[in-house]
Amino acid sequence: MDYGMIGKIEKSKFYAEERDRIEFESLRVTVRGDNDSVHWVAYDNGIWNCDCAFFGSRGVCSHTMAMERVLEGMVKIGEVAY
Ligand SMILES: [Zn+2]
Repeated sequence: MDYGMIGKIEKSKFYAEERDRIEFESLRVTVRGDNDSVHWVAYDNGIWNCDCAFFGSRGVCSHTMAMERVLEGMVKIGEVAY
């Protein structure tokens, strides 16, 4: 491996540990809930969305809150419309 690549790999380790360097602008994932139900969860500039019924009525749900925990420090927290 060349010297330049070794330096990039070392730098990537620091970046990965310093999560506040990373801010998600948008993402789309599926979250498998109980009963093997799969829900689409999206995040776009601080706004969460989920296709489950609970989110539809409350604007927040276990799926979006789970993703906030997974991405702690890299997404805005609690900016959902309750
Ligand atoms: Zn949901």
